[in-house]
Amino acid sequence: MGRPEIVITQSEDETFALGKRLAERLQPGTFVLLHGDLGAGKTAFVRGMAAGLGADPGEVSSPTFVLVQHYKGRVPLTHVDLYRLDSGTAVDDLGLEEMASGAVVAIEWAERLPQPFEESVTVKIEDLGGDTRRIVLDANSL
Ligand code: ADP
Ligand code: MG
Repeated sequence: MGRPEIVITQSEDETFALGKRLAERLQPGTFVLLHGDLGAGKTAFVRGMAAGLGADPGEVSSPTFVLVQHYKGRVPLTHVDLYRLDSGTAVDDLGLEEMASGAVVAIEWAERLPQPFEESVTVKIEDLGGDTRRIVLDANSL
């Protein structure tokens, strides 16, 4: 992937399209680490990823109490949301390594993971006001 890629999107659809385009070129076993505040568009991006992997984007929701969801696709997608991870839960206990076998793993609130994290793509989404988002894609050791 090389240097970080910076994209400005002006709608949820554009963020979806970016997630789709990224997912289409990911190998199973890749982690996608999403950073950004509530309402930034992380879940919208993951919905696009589902489309790119041949899964049903309509099934992708913001998990409320469910921490991990699996979607079947050409390449399976595992969707993790660490927002409600309570501080007592060790991230090691989540079994993230095992999830990666054969799947692409998208993790919202990746800020809560210990650093550094392994082979992954970092996606940072910043709300610039209105429907404008600044999205920085960065491959870590890929
Ligand atoms: P998060 O998962 O980061 O909390 P969501 O994807 O659930 O965020 O929600 C993003 C919200 O922002 C949605 O209501 C979406 O319609 C809105 N939105 C407006 N502009 C954009 C954009 N450019 N990209 C993504 N979402 C956008
Ligand atoms: Mg979300």
